[in-house]
Amino acid sequence: MKDHEQFPLIPVKRAQGVWLEDYDGKRYLDAISSWWVNLFGHCNPRINAALRDQLDQLEHVLLAGFTHEPVIELSERLIRLAPAGLTRCFYADSGSAAVEIALKMSYHYWRNAGQTNKTKFITLTNSYHGETLGALAAGNVALYKEIYAPLLMEVISVTSPDCFYREAGESCSDYSRRMFAHMEQALEKHAAEACAVIVEPLVQCAGGMRMYDPVYLTLLREACSRHGVHLIADEVAVGFGRTGTMFACEQANITPDFLCLGKGLTGGYLPLSAVLTTDEIYQAFYDDYATRRGFLHSHSYTGNALACRAALATLEIFEQDNVLENNQQLARAMRNASAHFADHAHVAEVRQTGMILAIEMVLDKATRTSYPWQERCGLRVCQHALENGVLLRPLGDVIYFMPPYVITPDEIKHVAEMAWRGITLATRD
Ligand SMILES: *Cc1c(COP(=O)(O)O)cnc(C)c1O
Repeated sequence: MKDHEQFPLIPVKRAQGVWLEDYDGKRYLDAISSWWVNLFGHCNPRINAALRDQLDQLEHVLLAGFTHEPVIELSERLIRLAPAGLTRCFYADSGSAAVEIALKMSYHYWRNAGQTNKTKFITLTNSYHGETLGALAAGNVALYKEIYAPLLMEVISVTSPDCFYREAGESCSDYSRRMFAHMEQALEKHAAEACAVIVEPLVQCAGGMRMYDPVYLTLLREACSRHGVHLIADEVAVGFGRTGTMFACEQANITPDFLCLGKGLTGGYLPLSAVLTTDEIYQAFYDDYATRRGFLHSHSYTGNALACRAALATLEIFEQDNVLENNQQLARAMRNASAHFADHAHVAEVRQTGMILAIEMVLDKATRTSYPWQERCGLRVCQHALENGVLLRPLGDVIYFMPPYVITPDEIKHVAEMAWRGITLATRD
């Protein structure tokens, strides 16, 4: 908050499409989708219309003992879209809550199955799964986690397949395959005590948009099944077309035991998250009350009707507009607009998976030495961009573009141009 003595908060009066507008009429291009939630622009006419209609019918009703049309329709649609075998939906209101639910349900499944030794989770280094205590424990970004360490459950941490660290000349797929040996070892050693492996498929977003190859997920699915450990795919950030497919898991042709969804689920309108799981897991809880096998987890706003309606309108846009196909062109525009960044003296890598493009800055390119964190190099880039009407936010010294899918190729060029200027100014010796 103290930073804002120098950089005052920007009060946003209205927004339209990719543009935000403040009270002085200054406009900002939202190149990070308001923290990865917005898919089809602000004040999207179709989502607005659906919400207006819903407002006059039903805003909310408890989802215990009651149900409603938007939540039923949304569940049916999500199941149709998701990898085959995911046939049950459980709703919550944030990505963190979705992760908590998947962790608890996995543990509880094994308990109901008589496997009371299974109490641990396997997680990747540099992963992020949210801020609540369980999700924070499952994640691995020191910046967010370290202070709270005494409050957190212990997890089994495995080195990430993060391809930033591949050898010169090594392909991302070779590296991901090679790094899987660490996971295989961990599973061999800990399967008896492990409930689940939790991963962010393909992109470790909050960990600096670090990427890995789908082959890792294919190997992971096979190994989890072989060792009797669940696989939790946290697609809160990468779901809904971000990586080029509707869900990142599709690129590895796998079905996880739990699929966590959030962020873009409502097109960036309202807080809603979902955990999709298999009928096998559902059945492990389905029993007479007296057996005490039920999953007693609820949130006040679970399955909120307005949020579900916004999600339905969002999924309708995917269906009507050929979004994934159009995104291929936008992704290409992002790649072309940023290709020259790789030649910059202080850029170590430009990497991309679908509609996520990241630029990693370093002090010394040859040795990949980072800037001292106190210099806040990434922050300075974003401040330059903001002054020029482009909203970016750094992840350390990583600058990334993760725009709404309604951005135009010209707007992409503009974003890249402002990022280039910012990087050049911020890294000047
Ligand atoms: C943002 C995020 C979360 C947490 O979602 P919130 O809605 O912020 O609680 C969980 N997992 C991943 C991968 C995320 O990017």
